[in-house]
Amino acid sequence: MDISVLNPHLQDLPVDYLYHLGLDSTMDLKSIFGDTKFVCMGGSNERAKDFAEKTAEVLGLSIPHNRGLKPIGKTDRFSLYKVGPVISVSHGMGMPSMSILLNEITKLLHYAECADPLFIRIGTSGGIGVKPGSVVVTEQAVNAELEPVFEHVMLGSRKYCSTNVDALLAAQLLNIKESFPVVLGKTMGTDDFYEGQARFDGALDPPYSPKERELFWKLAHLRGVRNIEMESTMFAAFCSRARIPAGIVCAVLLDRLKGDQVNDPPSQLAQYSDNAQKLVLDFIVHQTLSSPSSKTSTTAYAATR
Ligand code: URA
Repeated sequence: MDISVLNPHLQDLPVDYLYHLGLDSTMDLKSIFGDTKFVCMGGSNERAKDFAEKTAEVLGLSIPHNRGLKPIGKTDRFSLYKVGPVISVSHGMGMPSMSILLNEITKLLHYAECADPLFIRIGTSGGIGVKPGSVVVTEQAVNAELEPVFEHVMLGSRKYCSTNVDALLAAQLLNIKESFPVVLGKTMGTDDFYEGQARFDGALDPPYSPKERELFWKLAHLRGVRNIEMESTMFAAFCSRARIPAGIVCAVLLDRLKGDQVNDPPSQLAQYSDNAQKLVLDFIVHQTLSSPSSKTSTTAYAATR
């Protein structure tokens, strides 16, 4: 993580407190995080733990029997696990939460002298003409106006950043063979689950008609949008500014052309989410086995508090 592309003002801080992670720059971050190659982020704490446990399993790493896999740092906002070359961390819901996590995890990796990590968001989404259980690999994030930009207001003025993701990483993810459908498409990132995603099941009377929504879905599909969630534009814009290769892999929980409610049984929804995790786990195993430096990373420990 090259400081020259990060914030030069960080050099003036005697100690940098990564407040929401409960870690700081005086800690020996290098010994825990220095070998990180993959930073995998999902919305919930449970999914972060689940992914960490599955990572340990697929990489053949043992978790201490007596202690189990424990999160590192504090857990009132995010849960962070380190397993071999993989960080599994929750990012909460929506772009403000994602932004805080990205800032602190990127600084953490900088202080840990970590070289060339990949960031991958593993999420859930509503599909646009895509079947539940499918996984969408994002080719570009677009905002709620279907534009490939992330708008950030600073000092009272609007700044715009492009929302491209890493094309090679997207191609590598798509190349993994799975038993469920994996499709490439644009991902619309919104600031809201209800009206922001054109739902008719929010608390308020929507200021749009079913016909208007139908036209919007048609336009979105025509422009290549295949799913909708709430973090992609911020995530892609941040990684692009930080020059970190970014991938977004989301399970589809429902086809939004067919309904608004997420009402499949919980076990079915969990299976859909597992599909996105499986694709990323298979990618990590593939990369780890084919990388010459894999031996050192995979012998790293399953971190405990
Ligand atoms: N996540 C979203 O943001 N929207 C959906 O419809 C499903 C999951």
